[in-house]
Amino acid sequence: MAHSLRWRDLRQQIMLRIPGNCPLCLTRTAAGLLCNGCCQSVCDSMLLGRARCAACALLLNSQGKCADCLYNAPVFQSVVAAFDYQFPGSVLILQFKQGKRYLLAAALAELLVPRLQDLKLTLPGATILVPVPASRLALQQRGFNPAGEIARHLSRRLHIPCSNVLFRRKETGPQKWAGRQQRYQQVRRLYGLKQSAALSGKHVWVVDDVLTTGSTLNAVSYLLTQAGAASVHGVVLARTPLSS
Ligand SMILES: [Zn+2]
Ligand SMILES: [Zn+2]
Repeated sequence: MAHSLRWRDLRQQIMLRIPGNCPLCLTRTAAGLLCNGCCQSVCDSMLLGRARCAACALLLNSQGKCADCLYNAPVFQSVVAAFDYQFPGSVLILQFKQGKRYLLAAALAELLVPRLQDLKLTLPGATILVPVPASRLALQQRGFNPAGEIARHLSRRLHIPCSNVLFRRKETGPQKWAGRQQRYQQVRRLYGLKQSAALSGKHVWVVDDVLTTGSTLNAVSYLLTQAGAASVHGVVLARTPLSS
């Protein structure tokens, strides 16, 4: 059921003040966040293993190259991803999006907080959080924008303003089954920037739930850079390990 933004925020604030259960193993935790063991098992996918692309966080191939950045040079500076889109983190994403459990936004966004505190230290000057807007169809079906829920939680936790300066120009079909080429074509000119956006000299953190090929992030990074952003960084819960 769709809840208003105000009601979701209020409910989220109440839930963060009472004990809950770890969404993966159901042990009792403060505010229903992930327990330490589940945090580690989810985030190990990103923090351990082979070298990653410095720009988009994809695992480098055996030649030390990034398949996505080779195909489409990144306009953004870096990506912070909490985990690879694989088990067990993928279960949380499915519960959050398909299960329409918007209260999971806090537990999931919390995985990004330490990484973003480190990133903030490297970026002198003003930073702004900008969620990627959802399609009208997805909003109707889900009742909320996952990227918006994550961005609002991060805004509260990190004391960084959040602004919905992006909009979608037109609706397209779901990206889930689109191939790489099709995806790039779909996102071209899909997003626009509101005229009220004041981004000059600011570091922009573009928030989304999952980064698959980087095509969406690249498209909006171009707009944000053209509008004077000092730098653009992707902030996502999950990075899809291998793009099709
Ligand atoms: Zn747990
Ligand atoms: Zn890359």
